[in-house]
Amino acid sequence: MLRILRVDMIIIYMTNTKKTILVTGGAGFVGSHLCERLLSCGNEVICLDNFYTGSKENIKHLLENKNFELIRHNINFPISLEVDQIYNLACPAAPPHYQNDPIETTKTCVTGVINMLGLAKRTGARILQASTSEIYGDPKEHPQKENYFGNVNSLGPRACYDEGKRCAETLFMDYSRQHDLDIRIVRIFNTFGPRMALNDGRVVSNFIIAALKGEPITIYGEGNQTRSFQYVDDLIEGMIKMMEQDDFIGPVNLGNPNEKSIRELAGKIIGLTDSHSKVVFKELPKDDPIRRKPDISLAWEKLAWEPKIGLEQGLGRTIEYFRNKITNLH
Ligand code: NAD
Ligand code: UDP
Repeated sequence: MLRILRVDMIIIYMTNTKKTILVTGGAGFVGSHLCERLLSCGNEVICLDNFYTGSKENIKHLLENKNFELIRHNINFPISLEVDQIYNLACPAAPPHYQNDPIETTKTCVTGVINMLGLAKRTGARILQASTSEIYGDPKEHPQKENYFGNVNSLGPRACYDEGKRCAETLFMDYSRQHDLDIRIVRIFNTFGPRMALNDGRVVSNFIIAALKGEPITIYGEGNQTRSFQYVDDLIEGMIKMMEQDDFIGPVNLGNPNEKSIRELAGKIIGLTDSHSKVVFKELPKDDPIRRKPDISLAWEKLAWEPKIGLEQGLGRTIEYFRNKITNLH
């Protein structure tokens, strides 16, 4: 009797914990780490991606897992699935890629998000939006707290992403208020790590690749602008904590407050790679934010979350990844 009871309890426990989770943008840099982590916790994961910036290479090690499913699909078109949770990451994140087809970027942030919210509404799934520090624009408050409304140029080349992501947050809040949807919003600050694409174009991967190849490292502007860089594992931890807690919808900042200038970052990467690359300077792109640093006190208060991996440790792992990647190209 006792034995049967125990088996029942295990079954009930498993039914309560094993979930079917949709990760849109799951073949991208962050999405692939998230899929991996959710699978390792015993969930079924549906990875949905149109491979605009993501790649099969990022998730090929997951394809044999019986709990993993891959769907090629553009979220700008409706899709019918049965899921318990949705992590909405689909959206190009690097400035060169989101500016390449700005109308598609806005569509992904608006039409795509409406489709995903519609899916959450029909299934009753909890849905988390991967929002961004870009919603603060070129911030006039420093560090940035969640209650800062931001300083965004609605007309500039970054607006498709910044305003798109702002509208996505608005849609999330309105679906929560109007339809009582179970939403979560995280605002992600600059994140780096293995599986950033070789042609990603963001600063960490650009600098590491140039340093490893001995090519010039290109700093835009004078390099006095700052960012605060977070290693991807810390982000994944924060996203899952946010999804799994019941009392707080966000938005919440997820980032590493260790602020560095772009010039300092270049120096660090040159040192860690033992590179002879020289540094060259190019014009600063329009609307490039001057300073960025998250205030993460809310994440600590609500989620007991803070980043654990330091910049040098994270850069070390990322440099190793790109070193292997570049060697295997030859
Ligand atoms: P990424 O470009 O590597 O990943 C985005 C993924 O979304 C790619 O696999 C791409 O193919 C897919 N995608 C794009 N448009 C799609 C569409 N319409 N339908 C289906 N799939 C689509 O970028 P990332 O760094 O992994 O970013 C993931 C998410 O996190 C994005 O929403 C981004 O805005 C957000 N974010 C990332 C950072 C960061 O520093 N990495 C910072 C802030 C916010
Ligand atoms: N940047 C740079 N050289 C590069 C790529 C980026 O100097 O090869 C600068 C860019 O102008 C910005 C910062 O690095 O000031 C971070 O750029 P990234 O594209 O990584 O992210 P975002 O601007 O969206 O924070």
